[in-house]
Amino acid sequence: MEHSDSLPDGKTLEDLQALDRAHHMHPFTAASALRQAPPFVVDGAEGAYISGQGIRLLDMMAGLGCVNIGYGRSELAQTASDAMKALSYYHSFSAVSNPTAAALAGRLAELAPEGMNKVFFANSGSEANETVLKLIAFYWRKKGQPNKRVIITREFAYHGSTLATTALNGNIAMLEPYGIDAERDIARVEAPFWYRNGGDLSPEEFGLKAAQSIEDKILEVGADNVAAIFLEPIQGTMGAIIPPDNYLPEVERICRAHDVLIVADEVVTGLGRTGHWFAQETFGFKADIMTLAKGLSSAYLPISAAILHDSIAEVIEGGEDIFQHGFTTSAHPVAAAVALRNIDLLDEEKLVENIANDLGPYFLNKLKTLEVHPLVGEVRASGLFAGIELAKDKETREQYPLEAGICEHVSQAALIRGLIVRACGNVIVLCPPFIVNHAEIDFTVDVLGQALDEIYAAIQAS
Ligand code: PLP
Repeated sequence: MEHSDSLPDGKTLEDLQALDRAHHMHPFTAASALRQAPPFVVDGAEGAYISGQGIRLLDMMAGLGCVNIGYGRSELAQTASDAMKALSYYHSFSAVSNPTAAALAGRLAELAPEGMNKVFFANSGSEANETVLKLIAFYWRKKGQPNKRVIITREFAYHGSTLATTALNGNIAMLEPYGIDAERDIARVEAPFWYRNGGDLSPEEFGLKAAQSIEDKILEVGADNVAAIFLEPIQGTMGAIIPPDNYLPEVERICRAHDVLIVADEVVTGLGRTGHWFAQETFGFKADIMTLAKGLSSAYLPISAAILHDSIAEVIEGGEDIFQHGFTTSAHPVAAAVALRNIDLLDEEKLVENIANDLGPYFLNKLKTLEVHPLVGEVRASGLFAGIELAKDKETREQYPLEAGICEHVSQAALIRGLIVRACGNVIVLCPPFIVNHAEIDFTVDVLGQALDEIYAAIQAS
């Protein structure tokens, strides 16, 4: 495994931890945690493993669901080096382009669902979604319907951490500290979370009910006021919520009937995770706009994209006016080169097909063996995106109170056995790199079984 040969400026690990604690403000981190203990410093990674401080861990989260190609690919390092030497940077404002951005835009249009041909580049998933919020407002104004401003979003949604995207998030606790108005131009509907909300309904019955809640909301707000719905095909951050099969096609039918745009936030699902290039193919629906980030470059460099259907692009680009939006590093030539090579590698190595034909079914079948465990309510997966839902009572689907932190305890017990998974509420989420193998999946299931046993025994003893 590759490690940095020496620490910067001959500093020791302790020096770096002290610098970090003093000066580095971490995202989504309780500062108190860093007061209690130093940060874990990761300094090497290869394949499906990360390492640091003498510890090697199997990363079944691929970072934050992003290092799809696996860590340490020398092809991408070489591509970045070559691209940086050729053109380290130039902007893409005012009708200037660069070869790799132009080629990447073309490649994405080729891969994307039919009719999605126009690409706007940004640097993160949040920026791509923020871009779409502005695109949508611009679109409806140009269409002469400026009242169409309300965005529908769902319980448990996560669309980013800029101010505007934060307002779309389902977890109200993410909004409150900033005094964000949770209602202004935003309408919230239920998530297609059959296990939690389905009650006695079959998944299909519940799929229709959850979709109907969108139509009800459109009618309540007035279709003339509703601009779009934002949706993650699988809601990841809040627990790998996989909708019933009929839900997304029904949402599409409803949105078409009321002239409401569909934005597929494919920041996690895009570029192969569900066994198709895009989750729209997996779940049988078509969006008007989709966003990509994470897996676009396998997070080797920051780059994201908003991809528009022709019907949207024609309106946005019609006339002489300017879409007043963009970032200094939009369409960065080095990031674009890396994303292009990343897509080529996924393609050449047939990694997406392999998820559909082999890894996905293997992953689901193996994880499903955990469903008999007394702590597990449901195991669900699509491709290489899985959630293990914990339950206090398997019959009634009663949850443990979140304050009990049962899921965190299970993920900690897995971590000390060498496995990274993510605790999301009462769900253990797995989002491994596409190069994971059967033996690593077997190890994951063994370790999770042990971790669940340990925590269950502790609960019984308490
Ligand atoms: N959308 C989804 C579905 C995500 O999961 C995330 C991040 O986890 C984002 C958007 C935001 O992406 P970023 O963290 O790159 O801004």
